Parts: sequence; structure tokens; C-alpha cells
Amino acid sequence: MIDRKIAFTCISAFAALGLSAPASANSAAAASVEIDEAADAASSPLGQGDDQFTRLFADWKSLDSGSPTAPAPTISVSVPSRMPLKNSKLTSSYGMRTHPVTGGRRAHKGIDLAAPTGTPVYATADGMVERANWFSSYGKFIKIDHGASMETRFAHLSRISVSAGERVKKGQLIGYVGSTGRSTGPHLHYEVRIDGRAVNPMPYMVESEAQQAFQLATGNGGRGGE
Ligand SMILES: [Zn+2]
Repeated sequence: MIDRKIAFTCISAFAALGLSAPASANSAAAASVEIDEAADAASSPLGQGDDQFTRLFADWKSLDSGSPTAPAPTISVSVPSRMPLKNSKLTSSYGMRTHPVTGGRRAHKGIDLAAPTGTPVYATADGMVERANWFSSYGKFIKIDHGASMETRFAHLSRISVSAGERVKKGQLIGYVGSTGRSTGPHLHYEVRIDGRAVNPMPYMVESEAQQAFQLATGNGGRGGE
């Protein structure tokens, strides 16, 4: 809307320059500038007269009103930005550690949040459940795709409440804490991955002001508006 108004103003200015005759002999310098600008305007697609402008304006109007055949936007990205559990204790952080079961030094690709078996686990962003079943040492496992090659993983669950292919909203219950798979006690193993590589989930467990602003701007803020 703003862009179109600006474009309109620019074209009007060119048109005015094109129509204005050199004012007087003693403003020759100013007149020559006007003539040069008018020539530029004529050589640009925006300066070729009313017909073209009318067509361009009609195009903008049709873009603005949105044709019924235009495909609805399908790409959406939701950045993980909350705790997957309400009350929990961080028992193992992201990075190198001595594995509690194997004893070897290896990278811990997520964080461990201790909580009693049966504690509800929530989606940390909107997304699509990509996997919801037993997955080797992860035990009962959920993987959610959030768009832009971003995913979250939840492991060692006692119970899974979603199925593969299901869309979930941020804060939706997806399962319950357990100790399935290779686990020493009830806890949630939580991972955030970008392009398949695990990143430190800690920054993704709080909602930043930028994320709140983004949600409001994209209409997902839940605070009404227009
Ligand atoms: Zn873990």
C-alpha cells in the first residue's frame, strides 16, 4: 500500500516535469535540468505516458486485492521458544560429557530435564510431527519439523500423544516423561536441530522480544489486532 503510493507520487512528479515548459529565459539553468529529467522520464518505462501508467496501476490494484486463484502461502517457520516441561530440573547440559550409561566421553546432543514419569511434555513451537514411535536408544521418541530445516526431538517418553503427519501448536501436549530406551531414570532428553545438526537448546527455551514481535507481526500473537 505504502509502496504503491510512493510509486504514484514519483510518476506524478515525472509527469509534471514532462509537461512543464521552460519558465523564462533568465532561469535557463533550471530549465535545462527540467528538460534532462523529462527526457529520462520518457526513456524509462514509467515515463511513457498515461496508457502504460494506467496498466501498471491496474496491475498493482489486482495484486493488492489478491486474485482468488492465487495460491495460499504454505511455507511457515516457527522457532522453538519455550520449555518443553513446566517444572523440571536440568540434570545434564548440552556438549561434551561422560555418558551416564556407557561411561565414555561423547557429545551430548541435547539437554536432560529430570521430572517424574507422567509429567506432560509440550511442543515448543508450531510444527508437523515427523516421527512418533520407538527409536533405538532414544526409546519412545517424537521428532517435530518446524520449517527452515529446524526440528525438535523428545526422547525417553513413557507415552506418546501425537502421530506422524499431525500438525501441532506451540504449547500443545505431545507426550509424557518416562525412562524408555537408554536412560538411567525418568527425564526428558530434548534436542533442537538445524539442518540435522544438534545445537544448544538453551537459547530456544525462552521467548525473546524479537520472537514476540515476529509473532505479533505475522498474526500469531493471539492479542487480537485487525
Ligand atoms: Zn540426554
